[in-house]
Amino acid sequence: MSDANSEHCLFCRIVSGEVPADVIARNDHALGFRDISPVAPTHVLVIPHSHHANLAQVAAAEPDTLAAMVGLAREIAAGDGIEDDGYRLVANTGPAAHQTVFHAHLHVLGGRSMGWPPG
Ligand code: AMP
Ligand code: ZN
Repeated sequence: MSDANSEHCLFCRIVSGEVPADVIARNDHALGFRDISPVAPTHVLVIPHSHHANLAQVAAAEPDTLAAMVGLAREIAAGDGIEDDGYRLVANTGPAAHQTVFHAHLHVLGGRSMGWPPG
């Protein structure tokens, strides 16, 4: 569902094609594009077509879209050859978790060994 902020939302503008992005995968509910500032060899963002502020709001409003996002993340990992080694899905939620773009997104991270706990 769109809201009053969506016309000013960076990721809504990527969905519409108004802002260019390196889109590598899409399905009926979501698209994946490479992060502009990657922190791992694979760093792809998976976002829903519709505007929601965070992943919990996607889950509440459109559970099928959440499932489609996770499925697309797996396809992206397979496409980058990292599904078997493993990859990390991150959904920063809120300022304390360092969410900076308030259109729900999953970070798909892999291609190197991941530290734990995260910073
Ligand atoms: P977060 O801090 O979890 O909200 O993640 C936002 C992510 O969006 C960051 O990793 C940014 O590098 C990334 N980002 C911001 N603008 C763009 C853009 N135009 N294209 C691709 N990635 C972007
Ligand atoms: Zn948006």
